[in-house]
Amino acid sequence: MTSGSTSASWTSTTARSFSAPVVFLNHSCDPNALRSGVKVFARRRIRRGEEITIDYRLNAFSGEPFRCHCGTTACTGIVVNSFFALPESRQREYLPYAPRFIKQEYRRLNSAKR
Ligand SMILES: [Zn+2]
Repeated sequence: MTSGSTSASWTSTTARSFSAPVVFLNHSCDPNALRSGVKVFARRRIRRGEEITIDYRLNAFSGEPFRCHCGTTACTGIVVNSFFALPESRQREYLPYAPRFIKQEYRRLNSAKR
């Protein structure tokens, strides 16, 4: 899924502001939602009762590995907790939701490649 118009149309109906609850969202290597600051956006349709999951790497820069048991087909078991450890296509999908320092680093790294 591209993050362009689809996400924008989801935004108006599915964006919610979270304070405390957002800290209880579990990681998935194939999440159904994306966290941007204190907001959470649906990445795809979420069924009633389905756990809302996010990808911790979207907001991470540390590179600290953690063991993952999300069970999705995208799961690598050991997750390197960094936006820049994500596959290039996933970085492009997540980028509009990433914090500013990650966007700046992404632009710096990608301008250096050219
Ligand atoms: Zn996983």
